[in-house]
Amino acid sequence: MIFELISTLSLHVSLFKIKGHSNNHFNDIADNLANTGRHLHILDTYVPQLTNWTCHLSWSDRLIEQPLRSFLKNTFKAHNFDHWTTNFSNIRLRAIQHLVHWPYTWSCLSFHSSTPSSLFEYNHFQSFKVNCLNKSLPTLEKLKITKPHIYKASWYCCKCNTSKETWFHLWFCHRSIDTLKDIRDQTLDKFSDLVILNSRHKRSEIRHDLATSSFWIIPTSQPTAINHFSFADLITGLIPNDLVTIIDYHITSTTYTEAIINEAFHFMFNKLYHDMWIPRCSQLNLVEKSFNLSSHDKRSKYDSVIHGTLTQSRYQRPVSTRWINWCSSASQFGFSWIDFINTP
Ligand SMILES: [Zn+2]
Repeated sequence: MIFELISTLSLHVSLFKIKGHSNNHFNDIADNLANTGRHLHILDTYVPQLTNWTCHLSWSDRLIEQPLRSFLKNTFKAHNFDHWTTNFSNIRLRAIQHLVHWPYTWSCLSFHSSTPSSLFEYNHFQSFKVNCLNKSLPTLEKLKITKPHIYKASWYCCKCNTSKETWFHLWFCHRSIDTLKDIRDQTLDKFSDLVILNSRHKRSEIRHDLATSSFWIIPTSQPTAINHFSFADLITGLIPNDLVTIIDYHITSTTYTEAIINEAFHFMFNKLYHDMWIPRCSQLNLVEKSFNLSSHDKRSKYDSVIHGTLTQSRYQRPVSTRWINWCSSASQFGFSWIDFINTP
């Protein structure tokens, strides 16, 4: 019937989304009619008449010229990525975002080794990797914010007992830095071993090219605006483009690159998890026990009625329109969301 009306009266119809119950006069009329109509049986739709009906969707007043399904998929991915990178804890990421090989980074994040492990262990390890990427492992400084009734401001790193246990300190504490350096060297060896299997070059050449890259450098302080990769970035699981370039150069076919990176990073994360994170958790456990903290206490949530309101200030997420502008172009030219990441 609507189609009939449009064609008979030669109407030009544009569709706009109106927020429900927002006191829009005509929307309210339509709402009332729809509500009344729900209980009436007087409207019969003649379906064959509607088969010629076509609908064109637009984005920011521009017709979406791309297949809708993939356009929407890419739009959501671009939006989520934008949301993630504008997060408070990702300030560092914004400085080095353009140096990251994103497809391999995602591949590495979801990679799991063929060695069988229990589902529990597998889930723990996967969540450890995600927490590394988001720098959201429960360090003491994080626990002080989420559970201030248990973790007091006077608690310091349980290895050195002199510094606050931030994300950076967790890995670069002077008491465990030798373990971290070992892990770095062994990962470097692992890379060399994997590359040589598919290369005609000498092992010494491969190792030299890999070892002289900035992403193995152990930083002395938390990297912020410096826009080159260091080992502090590598242990979050971000894959630098430079690493991909070096491997591509040395191997006989670039089809092996992704598998090599996945394997070597899996090795590194296993080491970080078993040689550093788990021992640190055991150490913290001992400290907690010395304070007579039971696992029941640790599971207890912060209760504002008992402990008062948290004074922690909330970070305001900056409003980002970058993804909206990008989607306007994508609606016309059909970019993949990976291009969004590389658009300044
Ligand atoms: Zn320490």
